[in-house]
Parts: sequence; C-alpha cells; structure tokens
Amino acid sequence: MEIQELNKEIRARSFEKMKKRSLKQLTASWYQDDLLYSGIGKNIFIIIPTVGCSWALGDSGGCTMCSYVSDSFLESVDGNEIFELFVNEFEKYDLTESTGVKIFSSGSFLNPMEVPITARDKILEYLSKKHVKEVVVESRPEYIKEDVLKDVFSCLGDKLFEVSIGLETSNDFTREEKINKGFSREDFEKSIGIIKSLKNSYKIKSKAYILVKPILTSENEAIEEAIETSKYCERIGVNRVSFTPTTIHKGTLVEQLWKRGSYQPPWIWSVVEIINETRKNINVPSFMDTSGFGSRRGPYNCKKCNKTLKNLIINANLKQSLIDNIDCECKLHWIADKESSNLNRSKTTIRHLPLI
Ligand code: SF4
Ligand SMILES: [Zn+2]
Repeated sequence: MEIQELNKEIRARSFEKMKKRSLKQLTASWYQDDLLYSGIGKNIFIIIPTVGCSWALGDSGGCTMCSYVSDSFLESVDGNEIFELFVNEFEKYDLTESTGVKIFSSGSFLNPMEVPITARDKILEYLSKKHVKEVVVESRPEYIKEDVLKDVFSCLGDKLFEVSIGLETSNDFTREEKINKGFSREDFEKSIGIIKSLKNSYKIKSKAYILVKPILTSENEAIEEAIETSKYCERIGVNRVSFTPTTIHKGTLVEQLWKRGSYQPPWIWSVVEIINETRKNINVPSFMDTSGFGSRRGPYNCKKCNKTLKNLIINANLKQSLIDNIDCECKLHWIADKESSNLNRSKTTIRHLPLI
C-alpha cells in the first residue's frame, strides 16, 4: 500500500539520524493533578524504555503522526532492568490518598515482545502492594486478550486497571488510509467486548484516544469526526475518551506534509468546540490533551489567547466542565478557515483518490 511504503521510507530515514540513548536516558517521569476514577487526585506518569512499538518497527512503518518509536531502545530490553528503572522513578514521589500511575511504554504494555512478561508482572505485583488507586496502561487491540488480562489481575489484585487504546477515529477509512493504524473498528469493538466481559470479576476499565485532525482532513471535518467518534465510543461502552490533537512529531509523514505547507495542526478554537460539544453530548468523562499547545508544531490560535485557553482546558479536564466562551481577534480567522475549509475539496468519491 502506497502510504505504508512512504511511511516506511520516512521512518527508515529518521532511524538513520537517531542518536542512541541509554535505557536511563529513555526513562522519564512526572507528577500532576488528574481526574482519577475516584475523583480529583494525582497521577504519576512513568515512561519505561522498551524495544519500541511493534507496529512502527514492522513492515507498516507505523502510524503517520507518531514518532514514539524514535524514543525507544530499538533492541530488546531485559525485563528485570525495566522493572528496576520503573521502581527508581516511582520512588521519587510521595504518595497521597489519591494517587494513580500511568505507565507509558511508547507502544503496547500488553505486548510481551515489547514489555517482557517478567517486567509486566513485577511492576504490577509491586504496585499491588503500594498505596495507589489505579493503574493505566496503553495497548493496541490485538494484545488485549482474556488470558492476558486475567494474568494482569493475578498480579495487580483488586486495584483498578485501565487499558487505553488508540482508536483515533470511528471512521475506518480515515484510520486505515490517513493514519495507517492497521486495525478496524471490528478489532476495536472485540477488545472492548473482552474488557466488558471481565467487568463483573475485575475492576477493569477502557479508554479510547481520539486523534484530532489526521492528515488530509479539513478543519471542519476534523471537528465533526472527533465529536462523532466520542459518541461512538460511548455507544459501544468505552469508559473514558481522551482527545489528542495532532502535534508535529519529527520523522513522520505528518512532518513531511507540514514542511511542504500541506498540513497544519488544528486551531485551539476547534479543540474547544470539540470538547464542549462532547461534554454536552456524552456522559462518560472526556479529556483534551494540551501537549504542544501554542508551539510552532502544535495546535495554535494566536499569542494573545493560546495560554489562556490551554489553562482553561486543563482546568475543565479536572472538573469535566465546559470551556468558558472567551473572545479574541483570531476567532474570526478561525471561523473563516473552518467555514471555507471544504470549499475547494474535490467531489470525487474518496475511495478513488490517490493518497499523496
Ligand atoms: S500511535 Fe501507537 S500504534 Fe501507532 S505507531 Fe505510535 S505507538 Fe505505535
Ligand atoms: Zn487569539
């Protein structure tokens, strides 16, 4: 497939430029206020080093907007070593009454080829003895299996465990052709079904990541598709949704298009519309990631309002409230952009369009 070839080529070039970093350099953590399932609390975020996302390392070249594989070790990492690095990070923080842990493996925590079973089990057993309320990991649907989840709970005990899945969009065409995600809605629904079937026995939850503005998508389409995807997620029984507006990662197809003036991350106004409409329309908690907001490579309005809106969004994430209606000169530009964004689009049926 054309997009996969292109992706692979771009990925290979970025690997050539990559500087090798040690396991310690690839491990990171931070601590911030967050809305846990039990209410407002703190989350410890820990990035553990792994070989890298199998999807990005394989023949597909990975997803068109993601460069996490460039922050990976690219060689197998011993499970005991991963565990020790995890504990080192975890012990830097004081635990409060309401602390959660989010483990980022820059891929799929439930894939034993990325996070060896020794590391997975030792981390979960360790956390089962700590005063943490919940543990959140990320995984592609193909690694969400009943026996794997049962193994998880045999180590973690009765703590709450959330699996976050990068669905990105409910539109199969966008996911396949523009994002190169490599799984279908059916695959996603199957994994949500497995999680739901275990709910009577375990404290298991699911979250879907929704990408805001994939490539080859107009501002208006991006808004509509993101809102529609959140409604779909609620319909099929996902517990939480989290929007990730595109930021320009180095060494990706998105970056290539951006450099040629053929792609721009979404306006922050669009993001505000998405989160407000979502909160009006669905009942499950929804979050808006604000990474990269106001930067050259991220969602952007203007220097006067970027920061204010970013702070309003972060606050509203905690309270699950609507974003206040503020005004700024740049809003008119956004409205014009949004309203004209579909005007020049070809009327050719989309399945006959070449990708690039
Ligand atoms: S978005 Fe997820 S599945 Fe896609 S390349 Fe990045 S880590 Fe891998
Ligand atoms: Zn502004």
